[in-house]
Amino acid sequence: MSTLKLPIYLDHNATTPCDPGVMEVMLPYFTEQFGNAASRSHSFGWQAEEAVDYAREQVARLIGAEPKEIIFTSGATEGDNLAIKGVYEMYAAKGNHIITCVTEHKAVLDTCRHIEKLGGAVTYLPVNKEGLIDLQQLEAAITPRTILIAIMYANNETGAIQPVKAIGAIAKKHNVLFFTDATQAVGKIPVDVIKDGIDLLTCSAHKMYGPKGVGALYVRRKNPRVRLTAQLDGGGHEKGMRSGTLNVPGIVGFGKAADICRQQMQEEGERMSRLRDKLENALLQLGDTYVNGSRSSRLPHVTNISFNFVNGDGLMMGLNKDIALSSGAACTSASMEPSYVLKALGVEDELAHSSLRFSIGRYTTEEQVDFVIAKVKGVVEQLRAMRPIG
Ligand SMILES: *Cc1c(COP(=O)(O)O)cnc(C)c1O
Repeated sequence: MSTLKLPIYLDHNATTPCDPGVMEVMLPYFTEQFGNAASRSHSFGWQAEEAVDYAREQVARLIGAEPKEIIFTSGATEGDNLAIKGVYEMYAAKGNHIITCVTEHKAVLDTCRHIEKLGGAVTYLPVNKEGLIDLQQLEAAITPRTILIAIMYANNETGAIQPVKAIGAIAKKHNVLFFTDATQAVGKIPVDVIKDGIDLLTCSAHKMYGPKGVGALYVRRKNPRVRLTAQLDGGGHEKGMRSGTLNVPGIVGFGKAADICRQQMQEEGERMSRLRDKLENALLQLGDTYVNGSRSSRLPHVTNISFNFVNGDGLMMGLNKDIALSSGAACTSASMEPSYVLKALGVEDELAHSSLRFSIGRYTTEEQVDFVIAKVKGVVEQLRAMRPIG
């Protein structure tokens, strides 16, 4: 008898459950230790501040930063906005040109669109069929007016990892700041702001087994010292870069989540990539099935697969009662738009529609993966058998 509980969650790139260890450390900060970390005149405030400082060390350590370089935010969307808009405003005297890439998260792309409306210039680099940018194209796009390169660490839809270290070196050579949205990479693979030559970086707790609504922006303090124009004015919290009372329980949980990831990353990565490879190899046996994005430079827990000769809606309807995952068709109101990320890789609309993103997590078991393999194979074979011969 199987003890498998349905549905099975394979959408860890959308969000992750809180680790029980994370929950546990957060709880006292909702009740007894409810202080405001900005209260300087009593022990409630001091305790909260101490807890935030400890979490700042934990998050900094995970990415090789100094605690002073961590600005707590409400998540990666806010971090992306603050990094891009903050640099754009602060470095206006130097220039107004930003270089990014077409497969960035909407939090980066929509912020860049906003910058264009303000009069800024943005270059959107294309990607190859692996989902990776071309370094020569990047270097050629830099002008004397370029102030920022904004390229994500790893893509949320395909898991493709950009050549971050080489991008950092190019940025440094041309005296341009390098910002990376590392929301999908931090906690999953080693990220080191020094070795990678990163000047600004965003991450988010809920993508790494921490709570929702909290994240961090890393802002380099030396070689060079990066300055930002605040986007939220107020009490001057977080060195004036992000005013607002700190989410103390969330930050404490984020710190713990960072610690757990740092300790378990290697073992967890190996375990997840073994399960991911098992899943991927089994589904490729179906034939007329393609992996989207790089298979060599990729996060350990993600695979994005297109199934040819299958109706995308039928595929999702056949699966989503038992398996929680994302498809390559983003539902925007009534119409089903194929994913802009897959389109940028050169995937045709039809194949983008019938693609699935599987993202494995900390609690995914081999038994679950075996069930998913059997279920997906069954649905794909059934849909292909029903297909009118044309
Ligand atoms: C999830 C995600 C975001 C948004 O993060 P929030 O903390 O939910 O705002 C931004 N960028 C990437 C790459 C993501 O995966």
